[in-house]
Amino acid sequence: MNDRNQRHQRSMEKLKAHVDEKIANAREQRGLVLVFTGNGKGKTTAAWGTVTRALGYGYKVGVVQFIKGVWECGERERLEQDPNLEVAVMATGFTWETQDREADTAACRDVWREAAKMLADESVYLVVLDEITYMLKFGYLDIATVIQALKNRPKDQTVILTGRNAHRELLELADTVTEMQEVRHAFNDGVQARRGIDY
Ligand code: ATP
Ligand code: MG
Repeated sequence: MNDRNQRHQRSMEKLKAHVDEKIANAREQRGLVLVFTGNGKGKTTAAWGTVTRALGYGYKVGVVQFIKGVWECGERERLEQDPNLEVAVMATGFTWETQDREADTAACRDVWREAAKMLADESVYLVVLDEITYMLKFGYLDIATVIQALKNRPKDQTVILTGRNAHRELLELADTVTEMQEVRHAFNDGVQARRGIDY
């Protein structure tokens, strides 16, 4: 047991030295681009979790929802009461419900204008572009437009982009990319999405 304790202590010392070195090397201070992608559950919840985190320190946050405007969303219900949060919602529902490409494109461009304003506003600490990957995939929004807005944003602003199948150029630009991997999802076993859990 004594031996085990010693080994544990040695490995903890090594780990601490390693982490200390990493901390010492991380000197840069700037806003980040984060992408939450992949097929597993957790992309939008992670984005709202970060929104809560930023609001907790009194920062201004902008959230743009690119697909689920007409959907309920518990986080939005709760956090909208915070004067530091601005939410812009696309005025149509799911595109495979509306089946109207022109109307969807127009709705997407309208809400993108709101996003572009946030991405140009120095006072906004965090911007979330939720489900934006689909807008790029459907061709409602141009990747070059998005990349340019991200590159020209204020230095201290962080942006989170979510959705499956993130565009290669977004992945290249991002500082942090997390891929939520589906191991299992209840929906595939016929269980309905749950209020307060899935939305
Ligand atoms: P969440 O909003 O729960 O964080 P998400 O943003 O990662 O999920 P989306 O692809 O945006 O996932 O899915 C939207 C809805 O579908 C949510 O209700 C979510 O719980 C559910 N969902 C997420 N992943 C899957 C999956 N692999 N199969 C079926 N439904 C899913
Ligand atoms: Mg989502």
